[in-house]
Amino acid sequence: MPMAGPMSMAPEPGIMAAFEAAKGFMPVDEGLALYAAAAEAGRLGLPLLEIGTYCGRSTILLADAARAAGVTALTVDHHRGSEEQQPGWDYHDPETVDPGLGLMDTLPTFRRALHRAGLEDHVVALVGRSPRVAALWNSPLALVFVDGGHTDEHATADYEGWAPHVAEGGLLVIHDVFPDPVDEFTGQAPYRVHLRALASGAFTEVSATGSLRVLRRTGTGI
Ligand code: SAH
Ligand code: MG
Repeated sequence: MPMAGPMSMAPEPGIMAAFEAAKGFMPVDEGLALYAAAAEAGRLGLPLLEIGTYCGRSTILLADAARAAGVTALTVDHHRGSEEQQPGWDYHDPETVDPGLGLMDTLPTFRRALHRAGLEDHVVALVGRSPRVAALWNSPLALVFVDGGHTDEHATADYEGWAPHVAEGGLLVIHDVFPDPVDEFTGQAPYRVHLRALASGAFTEVSATGSLRVLRRTGTGI
């Protein structure tokens, strides 16, 4: 039986099953678009980086694309949850609370999901605030996936901290882009970041799937 090579643009059924079993906020169609972007960008031979690990749902796809391309997937999260995931808010999951601390901690759930997917070796988890990690970062990335906090403060900091590290020809992927305020579940900050990336002249839109936007770095001056 022929093996799926590094050019494969869809994950194996086992990876899709692990993805679908993981807690999180990534529909299948958008996940497949993310995977295709990651598989393509991985050909640059540079790492893929995600902001917003949560319980590892999208990370599984990035990790599998990274494995196929022979690169590393990095994923950044403080693991204390976004505003809308806190107790009492719409996106809260009581299972994500550390009972000893009474605070959210998605790190154990993420690690379990990644282990079950068989992808631990392909991922480096960076536990901390995105701007803090970005301030230490100084090497090019094949892909940056922005899926962290949805306030303007967080989304803007993610863009400013990480978009400059996308290599020429690499991809910037933004989740939860809702151009129409009627569709707005978690605010329009990612949409404003998307507009800003296009206006910068450094990025050109490649595809749109649901609320997922894929942009290619085609210029400088972010
Ligand atoms: N990609 C995930 C969903 C991410 S939810 C999936 O596929 O299901 C958003 C995540 O961003 C949360 O886990 C939250 O803790 C994290 N987050 C929000 N603001 C952050 C910040 N400033 N730095 C690091 N992580 C942040
Ligand atoms: Mg999201």
